[in-house]
Amino acid sequence: MNSENFESSINSRPEKNSDTFENADFPPWYKKIISPDRDIESLEEKDLDLIIDSAFEIVSREYPDYQQRPDQIMMSRNILKNLMNQSVYIVEAGTGIGKSFAYLIAVIAYSYLSGERVVVSTETKNLQRQILKKDLPSLENFLAPKLSYEMALGSSNYFCRLRHDEVFHEGKFRDLISESDLERYRKWTEEIIGGKNHGHMFDMEKPFPDDFWRLVGRDPDGCPGNKCLYFSSCNYYRAKSDWNSSRIIIANHHLFLYNLFNDKRTLPLYSGVVFDEAHGLISGGQSILTHKFSTDTIRDLNKRFESKLRKSLPQEAYEEWAANWSNLEMVWHVFFSSWEVQLAMNFEENNRKIISEKQNIDVRECLLSLEKICTDISDYVKEEEDSGILNVLNAILKALKKAMLFCQYYQTMNTEKLVYWGEKIDSRFYLFVCNLNLGDELSPLLTEGQVWTSATLGYWPFDKRPANKDALLKGGYFRDFINEALGETMQAEAKVDYYGSSFDYARQAVLYIPDHLAAPAWGSSGGAQELYERNLMDEVVELIRLSNGGALVLFTSNYQLNQAGKIIREKLDLEVFSQLELGADIALKKFRATPDSVLLGTNSYWQGIDVTGRQLRALIITKMMFTPPGDPILQARSKILEKKNQNPFMKISLPKSCMMLRQAFGRLIRSENDTGFVAILDSRIHQKAYGKIVLVNLPSLPMVKKINELREIILKNNLI
Ligand code: SF4
Repeated sequence: MNSENFESSINSRPEKNSDTFENADFPPWYKKIISPDRDIESLEEKDLDLIIDSAFEIVSREYPDYQQRPDQIMMSRNILKNLMNQSVYIVEAGTGIGKSFAYLIAVIAYSYLSGERVVVSTETKNLQRQILKKDLPSLENFLAPKLSYEMALGSSNYFCRLRHDEVFHEGKFRDLISESDLERYRKWTEEIIGGKNHGHMFDMEKPFPDDFWRLVGRDPDGCPGNKCLYFSSCNYYRAKSDWNSSRIIIANHHLFLYNLFNDKRTLPLYSGVVFDEAHGLISGGQSILTHKFSTDTIRDLNKRFESKLRKSLPQEAYEEWAANWSNLEMVWHVFFSSWEVQLAMNFEENNRKIISEKQNIDVRECLLSLEKICTDISDYVKEEEDSGILNVLNAILKALKKAMLFCQYYQTMNTEKLVYWGEKIDSRFYLFVCNLNLGDELSPLLTEGQVWTSATLGYWPFDKRPANKDALLKGGYFRDFINEALGETMQAEAKVDYYGSSFDYARQAVLYIPDHLAAPAWGSSGGAQELYERNLMDEVVELIRLSNGGALVLFTSNYQLNQAGKIIREKLDLEVFSQLELGADIALKKFRATPDSVLLGTNSYWQGIDVTGRQLRALIITKMMFTPPGDPILQARSKILEKKNQNPFMKISLPKSCMMLRQAFGRLIRSENDTGFVAILDSRIHQKAYGKIVLVNLPSLPMVKKINELREIILKNNLI
């Protein structure tokens, strides 16, 4: 980015779209460089660099263990410039460069320079907590003692006093919570009422059972807001007011997207956003753009509210309501049953069938019936004064409007932009619709300065990777990611950057990909599959024996994980913790606390977990993770690519699988002192032509194919 561009952009900064803050609390570090009354439009690029450099100087002075990393400082400088420019900046930061400090220092500086709010959105609530409890407090101490920041969670994570009263009044909690948890809950609610905690799920060391929490957490459809008896002391609204006075909001992708697709009414206004673990925003976006309804949706809605309406509405109004509702239930049922009959004949193995073209199934009756009830409810709402009844009516109206939108999708049947499918899940039939073009939906709504960062955003689609960064970036290293997340039109606008890992993989680790195992295959069964699994388990046991524990084994199938658990326990005298048996958090805690143990995990362990030191010295990835071919979104996107004569496997499946593999790979080496080995037990990497592409997308380190060679290198380099 050159200075000329930067200055021309800063002079044309758009109108503020965030709340502004009085900058009376300028931190001393910042004041030394920028006079508080200096017009930001007079700032030059070198002023911004100076702010970032000075912040890092303070950090390195105050933290004895901190190591200056030029890439980290450069990344931070560029983030600040791009936020100031209100531009889109996509940056891959390899493991170990310290991307959290890089973006947080830039975010703090930006907020003081602009006087505006920034949202940091990350993938999981645990990562939010890490930023809130660890990263920001350490920077706050030395850089900005009066910095205001808060964590924002989706509203159903907050305790609702009104629902609590209702649940305990009606005794609905019985059977959902044990006596000991109930006692814990009582103490916790006393603390909330006494103002001693924030009243959200993450205040608790051990969460309450989900079914119970669903009854006492906030119900966004049922909350009457400022008409509620407890509004002034409501935890959720108190949290929202704290967000309003914070310079930095730490959100998660799900909440951020919910806010974006709901008229930006949940989070306060902001003028910059940093997406950490940005690769995760795509799957989050897809799930938010998926609408799912079942044959029983309308009947369930009635069950939920019927008794309240019967008690609240005048007899005549209730009877009219009941007649209309019964008609709606009937037409809804007919519509869904027609689809079920139509699709069931062609259900695939997974009880699912994509709807590829319009059928002669009429949704108009459903729409008319929904419209009639919505109009009636809107009329009742106008006349109703009782806040309790209004609350119920508004909740029903909201749910019915969502159902109307869903029916409209089925009326238009736009199979170019949307994917439709039917599926039977636990004996219920569902219809789905999902928007395929996340980028087209997302980019018009993202009008603020944006930074997208993660250790795995880029993908090199050829078998030789350029050694130099410019060639990599010019060769379209981020093309697939940008197309999917932001749409093709953003290719030219987004600025891209890349910083490799600061770890010396060649010294710290060795990669083992055996060539003697059979390749896993989709849908294979019988003898070949049994043999594959037996060989795989033998290999896993052998590798754990070699490392004597300290091993994380990653699976793509729950069945295989459970099998491996049994076999390892039988054959090796080591503690084994399984994510499926103990839950992700507890299994990880036990693994960290037990030397030489084994941790078995599926999807959620492939990314985000952080175990440093000798405790994790062997990472065993049983198989590359590919999206199942029956996935409707994958199928629909594949068809679009085939029409353009492009190969869906190379354009969608392989890049995603490589990204997941890189994420998994990143679990082994978490610090400069970590050493160990990574085993990928998927011989397709040797057998298939695409294997070379898989390898160029992994960090470069010595690779062996035989376990004896692995043993030798480990001994020679003292890796475990
Ligand atoms: S305002 Fe809403 S969330 Fe808060 S206590 Fe009342 S109903 Fe519950």
